Parts: sequence; structure tokens; C-alpha cells
Amino acid sequence: MRKEAEEQERYSRQIRFAPIGAQGQRRLGEASVLVVGAGALGASLAQHMVRAGVGRLRLVDRDYVELSNLHRQTLYDEEDAAEALPKAVAAAAKLRRVSDRARIEAFVADVDRRNAESLAADVDLVLDGTDNTATRLLLSDVCFGRGIPLVYGGVAGSEGMTALLVPGEHCCLRCLLGADEPGGDGAPTCDTLGVISPAVEMVAALQAAEALKALTGNRSALRGTWLTVDAWHFAVKEWKLPPPVEACPNCGWGESAAAASRELAKHEGFVHAEDDLSGEDHGDTADEDLSGDEPESEAEDALSGDDSEAETENTLSSDDSEAEKLVVLCGRDTFQLMLKPSVSLGEWRRRLAEAGCAITADNRYLLRASTVEGERIVIFAEGRALIQGAGEAERALDIYRHYLSDETRRRADEPSVGF
Ligand SMILES: [Zn+2]
Repeated sequence: MRKEAEEQERYSRQIRFAPIGAQGQRRLGEASVLVVGAGALGASLAQHMVRAGVGRLRLVDRDYVELSNLHRQTLYDEEDAAEALPKAVAAAAKLRRVSDRARIEAFVADVDRRNAESLAADVDLVLDGTDNTATRLLLSDVCFGRGIPLVYGGVAGSEGMTALLVPGEHCCLRCLLGADEPGGDGAPTCDTLGVISPAVEMVAALQAAEALKALTGNRSALRGTWLTVDAWHFAVKEWKLPPPVEACPNCGWGESAAAASRELAKHEGFVHAEDDLSGEDHGDTADEDLSGDEPESEAEDALSGDDSEAETENTLSSDDSEAEKLVVLCGRDTFQLMLKPSVSLGEWRRRLAEAGCAITADNRYLLRASTVEGERIVIFAEGRALIQGAGEAERALDIYRHYLSDETRRRADEPSVGF
């Protein structure tokens, strides 16, 4: 059969690698992975997974491509930056050109408590490509609650760290980092230390290697360590991962352990015993526009990027106070907030232009504008907004009140007074 022959050819060198072989390749074709974040790490991880032949990749990211990303985020190019495409959209488009085998589900969204469970609902493995501790801890909670292995990774400067955490076998990230309160850490980031591309690729490679072992049933080959690596001074350090902490509600013995043993059995091959891959069509990709007309998964149901109001569950309720709406993103002078999702991008374009803003990017996924004072406002189709370059939170709130609150709408709706 032609398709089978193509599969054989495409993955021939990987199949020839003895620990993977034909059986491991089949397992990859049946596997679903979630990659959270499509920045430097996430985009690299997504590429490793799709090229290796995973059956389904779910990719979620809250950001858009900027010029300052291109030195290390190797999936993107100048055109993506010029168009200010959301990273999830740009990555999905590139990855579909890499392979039509994988089903690629891409979501433009911030991962939070409301959508994390849905995103991880039906995946075999979660790969961490995020840039902040709060999201990582949330992923750890969800993964340990569901018994899903989590491949943690982080990079800043020339240094990175990574570990594959298996529920039931290792402690959770919360226990490992000793952080009870997410977001309260003063850990260095790419914005404070800078970052070099080789460091990112080293960590992504180590994460991807552990993912391949886990997904192909090579559990005995898993490293079982927490590893740090410095690409500039070349130094590698490794520590054995601690076992679950009994008193911890996430990794301690309880329901999570039961879920973990179910998941482990699956990865040992007890569930994936079928040897007929040819009947499955892995070329079934999600719609290019991400609207997912007929959601086939819980995550698509909750998160599809459609413009309709029914799809916008990922929003704060309108009675939240202004202060609660404003969230600082990863120490990079960016504030995030939720706007009313019922206002379309076209309507925002009109309002911001009338308020004196210059529109600097305008596509079906987002609108970017420069305020009169020079700050940037980015509004995504799902109603999420970023305020960049404001410096202080108080100034970001001023920008919100002036340009984005209902007051702005009333002002724009009023006929202008001429003399
Ligand atoms: Zn724990």
C-alpha cells in the first residue's frame, strides 16, 4: 500500500534506531501530546514531535511573533513577525507543511485554571514550553491529577534545566521547586538575563529525547533525573528525582497514584497492543482557521478560536474589578487583561482609530495599535488584550481606562463635536 510505503520511507532512519523500531514508530503514530507555549522551547518541541511522527499535537500559546523572537524561535520568520501572527497560528501553518501526518490542533489562548484540564484531557504526555512558574505549577497539578507524565523545561541566559516527571514515581513540580505560591518567584527570565538559541535547543533536545522514550515504551531508558546544562560554559549537572511526597495532595499516594498506574500501564504497551496502524488516518488536520467546526475533543470544544461568543469560555467575567483583570506577563513590561469578548476586532479597530491610535497590525486573529503616547495595545480575537511598554501597572490601568473600557466605547459612539 502506497501510504504504508511512504510511512516506511519517511521514518526509516528512526525505525532503524533499535530502541524505537517499527513498534515504537507505531506508538508514536497513536500518541497525543500537548505542547504548552510556542516560544523558543515550545516551537522546537512541537517540531520535534511532528517530525518524529506523533499522531496528534495540541499546541497552545498566548503570544504573537515579534522581531525580537527570531534569533531563537526557529520556526518563525520575518513575514510572521511583520504580520504579527499569533505563534500558535504561525507554528501550526509551518508544521502542516512539515508533515500532513499529524493532526495539529492549535489554540491562541492563555493557559489558566479554566482551560488547563480540557487541554490535557486526552493526551499521553505534556511538554512544557512555557516561560513562567505559575503556568508550570498549574500544568504539574493537572498532570499529576490525571496521571500524565510532564516534561518540564526552562531556559534563561545560556543555562537551562529539564526533568520528566512521572506521576506515581516522582514528586510533582510544586514539591520539587518548593513553591507554594505561583508567580511569587524572582527567578531569572529571558527578559532579565537574555537568552541564546543554543541553550534553548539543548534543553528542547533533552526534553524531546525523554518524550520519545516515554511515548515509544522505552520507560527503562528514562533518565529519572533533574538536569541543568549551560551551553556557554559547558557544564552539566544531574540529580536523581525525588519520589512522591506522601503528604502532597498532588503527587502523594491517592487518586493521582491510581491514575498514574493506569497511565504507566498504557505506556508499557498493555493498552497499545494493536499492531494495525494502516487503517488510521493521521493526516486529519484541524482547520487552518482553527475554528474547529465540529470539535472532536474536550479542548477543541472549550477553546476553538472561533469568533462566536459561545466559544469564548476563556474569559474573565465582566464583574471582575479592574485590578483583578490586569496580570503582569513574565516580567517583560507586558500586562494582560480580558476585555468583553462580544466586541469584535473590527469594532476595536474603529474605536482605537477614533481614539487617535495608529493601527500597526491587523489580521483575523489580532489587532495591534500604538497609543498616542507610544505604548502598544494588542487585542486577540478571543477578547484578551496585552498592554506593552506601559512600565508601571498604574499607567497600564490608565491606558485600559482611556482606550479599552466601556467609557471609550461611549465616547466613540458619541457624535464628535465640531466648532
Ligand atoms: Zn507534590
